[in-house]
Amino acid sequence: MSETSQKSIFSMIVDREIPADIVFESDRIIAFRDIAPKAPVHLLVVPKTADYRNVTELAAADPALLAEVVATAQQLANEHTSGEYRLVFNTGESVGQTVFHVHAHVMGGGLTEGSLGLG
Ligand code: AMP
Repeated sequence: MSETSQKSIFSMIVDREIPADIVFESDRIIAFRDIAPKAPVHLLVVPKTADYRNVTELAAADPALLAEVVATAQQLANEHTSGEYRLVFNTGESVGQTVFHVHAHVMGGGLTEGSLGLG
């Protein structure tokens, strides 16, 4: 984390400074329910480190950790829905990223192809 940046809301969840509905935790990853779900199942899978702002940075610096994020998404989809899931990494403000601490949205249940993007 740079000296000027604020602690992210997800780091506060990792440090138990604010509450969350946590569904998974390991040494390097935490997952919890999105506070404003956009699908019947909507979980966030978050590397605990605040070193990476988005998936591009994570993939370049620690591909093994990105692979752990994906494996966790599959495990949670198996546990919380049919095992099929949509994985979204918003990357940049103009596409809706609001928290600049890399995270995967894991969504499932009742989604259709037409629900991707607008509409
Ligand atoms: P993004 O727009 O990709 O940066 O996603 C940030 C997500 O974090 C949004 O879907 C928010 O609803 C979610 N969110 C923000 N604050 C919290 C929180 N305290 N607990 C759970 N989810 C949160």
